[in-house]
Amino acid sequence: MTLRYAIIGNPVAHSKSPEIHAAFAAQTGIDLRYERLLAPPNGFRATAEEFRANGGRGANVTLPFKLDAFAYATEVSSRARDAGAVNTLTFDATRVFGDNTDGVGLVKDMRDNLGFAIAGKRVLIAGAGGATRGVIGPLLAEAPAVIAVANRTISKAEQIVQLYRLVSNIIVIALADLPGHQFDIIINATAASLKDDLPIIPRSTFAEGSLAYEMMYGKGVTPFLALGRQAGASVADGLGMLVEQAAESFLIWHGIRPHTEAVFRQLRLSAPLN
Ligand code: NDP
Repeated sequence: MTLRYAIIGNPVAHSKSPEIHAAFAAQTGIDLRYERLLAPPNGFRATAEEFRANGGRGANVTLPFKLDAFAYATEVSSRARDAGAVNTLTFDATRVFGDNTDGVGLVKDMRDNLGFAIAGKRVLIAGAGGATRGVIGPLLAEAPAVIAVANRTISKAEQIVQLYRLVSNIIVIALADLPGHQFDIIINATAASLKDDLPIIPRSTFAEGSLAYEMMYGKGVTPFLALGRQAGASVADGLGMLVEQAAESFLIWHGIRPHTEAVFRQLRLSAPLN
């Protein structure tokens, strides 16, 4: 029987998750179908319910629904609870299990694929949505010197940092205060690049030898990455994170962690970063 999975988001047409899960399925011999589901802005729950009623076994969740997915789950993993956000749902007859694989995906990509150690580094995350929530716990586990969270709406950054109030090396930083500070890893976890908007980060923020990491993928060199390059930083987009978080979701659903390197290389051909 073909197992059905989906990615739910808005927008969702840009998502590469269907191609990635199809490649993992071919690699592991699992018979599955993975589709894109566009949910209306207030329609996450209805979309998920309908998919589940029609035999869906699980779903990935992308912007802007990761907090809705957390609320929808009847049980969550500890990493999803820490984040207050869910990107992987697993359905059975009575339960909706929520997990979050974004943080594992980011750390694996940054540390293992790019070879950029997080330990001891000053990390700036711009953005305070579902993606930021998902990655902070796993980033903290790598023992950075500090994680600073900046956001257009500062109250949302404050809410996230409040979740980690017992941790000393995580702070909120106001956008207006960024010019006085430098960071070794600067992550753009805003949705600004979806619309090719200018980054909210000044050039002076990039320390020597820093990494500019754009979570968005498939947009080539975004204004944020162009800024990072001008500032002399190494640059990376979120394609590697995407493949790694998908592998972790695949592991949750099918009990096998697929190999990621060839899938990443194949996707990179149609989404170059130069
Ligand atoms: P959310 O919708 O939950 O959050 C969006 C964030 O972006 C908010 O902090 C919002 O600020 C900010 N924002 C939106 N537009 C602008 C703008 N024009 N200028 C400045 N800030 C802006 O999205 P997610 O957190 O789920 O996703 C964020 C990004 O990360 C997306 O681009 C997504 O594609 C990418 N992503 C990539 C993944 C990967 O595997 N590579 C995984 C997860 C996410 P405010 O609070 O002020 O509205």
